[in-house]
Amino acid sequence: MNFLEERIVKDGIVKEGNILKVDSFLNHQMDIDLFNQMGEEFKRRFADKPINKILTIEASGIGIACIVASHFHVPVVFAKKSQSINIDGDVYVAEVESFTHKCKNQVIVSKKFLSEEDHVLIIDDFLANGCALQGLLSIVAQAGGTVEGIGIAIEKGFQQGGRIIRNFGYQLESLAIVDGMDAANGSIQFREQ
Ligand code: 5GP
Repeated sequence: MNFLEERIVKDGIVKEGNILKVDSFLNHQMDIDLFNQMGEEFKRRFADKPINKILTIEASGIGIACIVASHFHVPVVFAKKSQSINIDGDVYVAEVESFTHKCKNQVIVSKKFLSEEDHVLIIDDFLANGCALQGLLSIVAQAGGTVEGIGIAIEKGFQQGGRIIRNFGYQLESLAIVDGMDAANGSIQFREQ
């Protein structure tokens, strides 16, 4: 088991409805030493890529993205949830369905902060059905930028997102892939990587 898998086994809680709660180190309280280890690992896995920007989505991706960015020495842009309509046309917009909150959000990124010159690493905490990632991919495509890779902390491999995104041909690196979990006894199975 790698460092993140060990931490998930130690402190993760399996909830009904295929939810893994990792509030004590990732989603609410944040373990910055752990985030630094994740940053180092993503830097190693994307070492050959000309990444000049990191893109994530609010809220829970932001903390990880910031620490990862300190290993790449590049800025972080996060897609913001927004109710307002894009009257001036100065933002890229994507629709994202939230897995955890079961609602649809419009997310926006200002055109000032993403362009065809950008080589983007997308970072997020979880990958489940892939809606959040598809929204971010759409925003980079609208900007004419290049997605150099996608780094995820925890992928739930029994949901469809990972397969869909890998089929698109992206380099998708998940530090832990959960292939099964059981709320009744708290057990978690990881994919061998
Ligand atoms: P997706 O869009 O891939 O279906 O879901 C990704 C988003 O949903 C992540 O950004 C994360 O915030 C949230 N999410 C999905 N599954 C889980 C889960 O099992 N646990 C937690 N804590 N968040 C999840």
